[in-house]
Amino acid sequence: MAEPFPLRLQHRVVARREVLRVLREGLELREPSRGGIRVASQLRMATARSDELALLMTLEMGKPLAESEAEIAYGASFLRWYAEEAVRADGRFAMHEAATGRLLTMKQPVGPCVLITPWNFPLAMGTRKIGPAVAAGCTMVVKPAKLTPLSMLMLARILEQAGLPAGVVNVITASSSGSVMEPVIRDPRTRKLSFTGSTEVGRTLIGQSAEQVLNVSMELGGNAPFLVFADADVDRAVEGALVAKMRNIGEACTAANRFYVARPLVSEFADKLAARMGAMKIGPGTQEGVEVGPLIDAEQLAKVGELVDDAVAKGARVLCGGERVDGPGHFYEPTVLTDVPGDARLLREEIFGPVAPIRAFDSEEEAITAANDTEFGLVAYLYTADLERALRVCERIETGMVGLNQGVVSNAGAPFGGVKQSGIGREGGPEGIEEYLETKYVAIAMS
Ligand code: NAP
Repeated sequence: MAEPFPLRLQHRVVARREVLRVLREGLELREPSRGGIRVASQLRMATARSDELALLMTLEMGKPLAESEAEIAYGASFLRWYAEEAVRADGRFAMHEAATGRLLTMKQPVGPCVLITPWNFPLAMGTRKIGPAVAAGCTMVVKPAKLTPLSMLMLARILEQAGLPAGVVNVITASSSGSVMEPVIRDPRTRKLSFTGSTEVGRTLIGQSAEQVLNVSMELGGNAPFLVFADADVDRAVEGALVAKMRNIGEACTAANRFYVARPLVSEFADKLAARMGAMKIGPGTQEGVEVGPLIDAEQLAKVGELVDDAVAKGARVLCGGERVDGPGHFYEPTVLTDVPGDARLLREEIFGPVAPIRAFDSEEEAITAANDTEFGLVAYLYTADLERALRVCERIETGMVGLNQGVVSNAGAPFGGVKQSGIGREGGPEGIEEYLETKYVAIAMS
């Protein structure tokens, strides 16, 4: 495969340029809205086939059917949102300060894009990029993870059937992503790279993008702190913790990775969370009532086990779970650990599994310092009834997003993204389409 692939690829890249040229010349400045209207029709198609898509997603990724359905609704929301936003991707017109001319700015598609997505949300991580990219008038090559290519291929089929012109969204699957994608990223015709995945791979891809000075967006790893202050409503915090921890079997970049709880509440919070997590039904995602599916593969299962064993060896107490489930499949029990020592690996590394490590804190300052003690900065969760404290902590926390008294932040209308080593750029909201637009300024002489 080493030789023929780049040739086919080159052909695709040429085809993408052709589509872009047609869009540019045929639609001129209105091309974003035309792209958006097409996206709207895809939404109807995606919704009509959601049962089929949900089953496929559960079979290839493992999450319970209800979660696959939720992902489809979430994924489709980006298509709808950007279909509507496309018409607002406008420039502006202004007068020169000396009134000797006019200043015109216009928004244009950034150009051919390379979009690389992970396995944990095999559809939504794609539509979060495809929606704004199509709405902006870009063409794209999409590379899904090798563990979950089928959901993306089905989406591509749906988009095609919905009338998206051939060549706008091109899906490449690869068993060797590095060697397949590097020539595409380094190809001078590529203008944009948007990546969702691990920080480690993100760093490599930023390096490859430097050669052509690509416009890059990076949605990378997280290590979300979940802070519960002494004035918080404990039951509400436990509900939020369940979602923030257990959504997607804990395999989410936004998953609460470390729980810091004010000392007077810590036992009550830990016991209540353990009671809820310990009662969750584990099994194949296709089975009725299952809430915890298998982890993605044997490697991930082994990693979760190692992180728990490390914490326990260093003194953490197991309140529930703590073991893999015997039998076939990569199942790990929902696990709550308390008295977790500061040097436990799972406070530093992304767990990506159903494990909640809890530590007590004694002051606001200590909680903020602990929360910020990481190279990641995607999201933080904060539970407090004190408005001033909430604002103070939101301002000081080093993350791109904060869930204030709620355990989910994802929303198509909001800018999703991280700071520090969690990424560059935002997906969702008006900020999300900007990632696929260039601003051109025209200086107009007027006497
Ligand atoms: P990953 O190993 O970094 O892979 C992500 C994607 O990059 C996959 O399609 C993968 O393909 C591809 N890839 C790997 N090496 C590559 C290379 N050298 N060149 C080009 N492409 C390459 O991440 P993952 O394990 O799939 O996903 C989990 C990670 O994603 C976690 O760290 C999580 O936090 C992060 N994530 C972040 C967000 C966010 O919005 N911030 C959202 C979801 C997930 P293969 O599958 O073929 O290796």
